[in-house]
Amino acid sequence: MWFEKGVDEIIKELNTDKVNGLTSEEAVTRRNKYGPNRLTGKKKKSILRLLFEQINDVLIYILLGAAVISALLNEISDAAIIIIVVILNAVIGLVQESKAEKALESLKKLSFPKALVKRDGKILEISSEDVVAGDVVILEAGKYVPCDLRLIETANLKIEESALTGESVPSQKYAEDISQNENTALGDQKNMAFMSTMVTYGRGAGIAVAIGMDTEMGKIAKMLDENGKNLTPLQVKLAQLGKMLGFVVLVICILMFGVALIQHRDLFEMFLTAISLAVAAIPEGLPAMVTIVLAVGVQRMIKRNAIIRKLPAIETLGSVNIICSDKTGTLTQNKMTVTKFYADGILDDVSRLDIKNDVHSSLVRDMVLCSDATYSGDSKTGDPTEIALIELGVKFNMYKDDENKLHSRKNEIPFDSDRKLMTTLNKFGDKFNVITKGAVDNLIKICTHIYMNGSVIPFSDDLKSKVMEASDVMSKEALRVLAAAFKVVDSAKIEIDSMEKDLTFVGLVGMIDPPRENVENSIEECRKSGIRTVMITGDHKNTAFAIAKKLGIAEDLSQVILGHEFDRLSDREAEDKIDNLRVFARVSPEHKVNIVKTLKKKGNIVSMTGDGVNDAPSLKAADIGVAMGITGTDVAKDASDMILTDDNFSTIVEAVKEGRNIYNNIRKSIVFLLSCNIGEIVALFIGIVLGWPSVLRPIHLLWVNLITDSLPALALGVDPDDPDIMKEKPRDAKKGLFSGRIGVFLIGNGILIGIITLSAFYIGNLVYSNSLMHAQTMAFVVLSVSQLFYTLSMRHSEKSIFEIGVFTNKYLIGAIILGIILQNIVITVPFLASVFKVFRLTIQDWLFVLLLSIIPLIVNEIGKVIYNKLEKK
Ligand code: ATP
Repeated sequence: MWFEKGVDEIIKELNTDKVNGLTSEEAVTRRNKYGPNRLTGKKKKSILRLLFEQINDVLIYILLGAAVISALLNEISDAAIIIIVVILNAVIGLVQESKAEKALESLKKLSFPKALVKRDGKILEISSEDVVAGDVVILEAGKYVPCDLRLIETANLKIEESALTGESVPSQKYAEDISQNENTALGDQKNMAFMSTMVTYGRGAGIAVAIGMDTEMGKIAKMLDENGKNLTPLQVKLAQLGKMLGFVVLVICILMFGVALIQHRDLFEMFLTAISLAVAAIPEGLPAMVTIVLAVGVQRMIKRNAIIRKLPAIETLGSVNIICSDKTGTLTQNKMTVTKFYADGILDDVSRLDIKNDVHSSLVRDMVLCSDATYSGDSKTGDPTEIALIELGVKFNMYKDDENKLHSRKNEIPFDSDRKLMTTLNKFGDKFNVITKGAVDNLIKICTHIYMNGSVIPFSDDLKSKVMEASDVMSKEALRVLAAAFKVVDSAKIEIDSMEKDLTFVGLVGMIDPPRENVENSIEECRKSGIRTVMITGDHKNTAFAIAKKLGIAEDLSQVILGHEFDRLSDREAEDKIDNLRVFARVSPEHKVNIVKTLKKKGNIVSMTGDGVNDAPSLKAADIGVAMGITGTDVAKDASDMILTDDNFSTIVEAVKEGRNIYNNIRKSIVFLLSCNIGEIVALFIGIVLGWPSVLRPIHLLWVNLITDSLPALALGVDPDDPDIMKEKPRDAKKGLFSGRIGVFLIGNGILIGIITLSAFYIGNLVYSNSLMHAQTMAFVVLSVSQLFYTLSMRHSEKSIFEIGVFTNKYLIGAIILGIILQNIVITVPFLASVFKVFRLTIQDWLFVLLLSIIPLIVNEIGKVIYNKLEKK
C-alpha cells in the first residue's frame, strides 16, 4: 500500500525526482506505455446495434410488415420502396445521432480538468489525462486531484473526499509517514490524495502513484456512466409532444380507416396509406435533429470562448434577463498595477515611495513576502493582485526570491474570499514575523498598533479614520486597496488561530485594474435587450461603484449595497429592494446564494459568475452558472453550466445571443416539420372524407417525408444568426414553444399546404379526368415543393425574406435545390416513375404546380406584414 511507504522509497520505486519532477521525455515514454490517466467509461455501441436501435420502433415494424404483405400481393415496387425508405431513415437517423454524440463527446473533453505538474524543474499545466505515475503534482484550493498521490508537501491542505469515502467534511492532509497498519481505511490515509477528490483549502504537492483505472476511484468506477442523457427542457417537452402526436396521428389513421371502410375502399391500400401517414406525420427524427442543432450551436459557442457544459443551458441562456458578474477579471482586465500608497501618514503616488523610509520599505517587503505569485521578468504566475505586488517590489529592487531566502516562510493561512485576508509567518533573524495582507476594513479590525515614524504606536481611532480616509480616496478613483500589517513573535510554533490577532498596521497600496475593452458596449447591448447587468464583487464599495459607473452599470450610490447589509434584510425587504440594486460590494460567496435566490424569487432568469471553491453553491443556484476558464477553480467549473475560456463579460453576452439564436432555429425546424405533417394529414383526411380517390399514394408520403424532414429541417436549424436578435426582449421561459404568432403560423400553414395539395389533385383530376396517376403526381409534387419553398419564409417570423436575404442560408438553398432535383428525378426517370407510379409532368403542369407551391411562401410573407402592422397598433 502506497500510504505505508516512505517518500524516498516511492521516489526510488517510481524513479522520479522530488524537486524537478520527471523529464518531459520520460513523461512521454510513460504516457505511451501506460496510456492516459482516465477512467474508462461505458463501452461504445457497435454500428449494428445503433442501426438496430433506429429501427426498433413499433411503427417501423408495422411498416416492414406492410412491405412483406405488399410483396406477397405482388406489389414488389411498393415493398422495395418501403424497405429503402426504412433503411434510408435509419441511416439518416444513425448519422444524425452519431454526429450529435461525437459533438457531445468532444465537449466533455473540453471541460476535462487540468493538472499542475513539475517537469524538467518547471511547473506546467497539462490535461489531467496526461499525468503519469511518478509525476510531481501540485495541489491548490479548488483543484481536483488528478490521480492518486502520495503527498510530499502540505500547507494547511484540506481535501474533500466525499466522492470516495462519503465523508463530506474535508480532511486535513499531511506529508508525514504513517505507521504500518493494514486496515487503515482510505479516509485515514492522511498522506495520500485520491483521484477525483477536491482540494478545498491550502496547498500541497504529491507524487503520482496510481493513474486511471488503477486508482482507488478506478476500482469503483462503475458509477461513471452517470453522465447519461442530459435532456434539455425543450427535449423533454418534445418527447412529450412526440408521444401526444403519435396518439393523435393514430386516432386520425383509425378514423381514416373507418371512413374508408364505410366507403368500401380498397382496404389494403388504405392500410398502407394509414401506416405511411403515421410514419410521415410522427416526427421521429426530431430529437436527434434538436441534439444536432444544439451541438452545432455549442461548437459555434466554443469559437466565441464559451463552453457549454450542460445542454439545457443553451435554452435557458435565451431567457436570461439578469447577468450577475464578478468585477475583477470579468468586467476588468485583471491586469493590476500599484499606482498609489499610504504609509507613515502620507497618501501619494507610488513613484514617491521612499524605500529608505522604514515604514515604506516595510510596506513593500511585507506585500512581497505575503504573496504566492512568482515573477521573473517575462514569466509571471499567480494571482494578478499578487503579481502587482511583486512587480512593486521589483521597482524598488526587492526581489521575491532574495526576500524569501532571507525571510523563509514557516507557515501560512491562505487567502480566502470570506476573510479577505492572507497571512504568512516568516523568519526575521532569530525571531519571526506574522505578516497579514488583505481588505483594509477587515484588517483594521485585527490591528491594535500602527507602524509610524519608525516606531510602533497604539492605533487610535483618529489614526484609524485617517487610514480609512486614505482608503476612501483611493477606492473612489476605482483603485483596489490592499492593506498590510505584521507582528513579531518569538517562535515559529505559534497557533494558527492566534496569528491574525493584535497586529501592527503598516500601510495601504492602491492598484488600478482597467475595464476590459468592449465591456461597456456589451452592457449597453444588454440594457437595450432587456437584460440587467449586476456587479457582484468582493472589492470595496467605492471601488466597485467607481467602475460600475464608468461601465454604465450603476448611476447612483443608492444602487450599491454591501454583501452583509443585504444579508441582514428580511426576505420581504430584500425582494422590495433588489430591483433597484446594481452593485453588491464586499460580497462573500455565501451572500451570493441569497442574491441569486432573491432575484429568482422575483421571476428573473439569472446568470451568475464565479471562480472560487465557495462559489459552487451560487453557481448551482443560478439558472446559468458561469465559471471562469482562466482563473476559475475546477470546483467552480464543475458546478457551472457554462465556462468562459477568456473570463470576459462580453462572452456571456455573446453566449446569450447565441442561445437566443439557437432556440429560435430549433423552433423554426420544429414548426416547419409539424406544419408539413399537418399539411399531409389535412390533404389525405379531407380527400377521404370528400370521397375522392386517394390523393397520394403511400410511398409518396414516405418520400416527401424523406426529402423534407431531413435536410431542409436541419438547414433551418443552422440558420445564420439574426443580427437583430438583441433588439428583442428575453424570451419568457414560461411561455410555450408555440405561443403567439408561431402557433398561428404552425396551424395556418399546415392547413394551407393541405389545401393546395388537394387543389392540385382536384384540378389535375378535372383536366386529366382519365388519369388518376396524373392528378396524384401533381398533388405529390405540390406537397413536396411547397414545403421546400415555404422553408424560406420560416426563417423569420417578422422579417420578410428580402430583409434577411433570400440566399443568406446557403444550406437551405442547397437543400431546396436538391429537393426539387430529386423530386424531378423521381417523376422523370422512367424506372423510378414506374416504381412511384407517377406521371411525367408537362411544362404547363410544372408551371401550374410551381405556382401553387409558391402560395404558402407568398401568404406567409403577406401574413408577416399584416401581423407586424397589427402588433404595432
Ligand atoms: P470579484 O468577485 O469581482 O472577482 P474580487 O476579486 O475583488 O472581486 P476577492 O478576490 O474576494 O474579490 O477580493 C476581495 C478583497 O480581498 C479585495 O478587495 C482585496 O482587498 C482582498 N484581496 C484580494 N486578493 C487578495 C490576496 N491575494 N491576498 C490578500 N488579500 C486579497
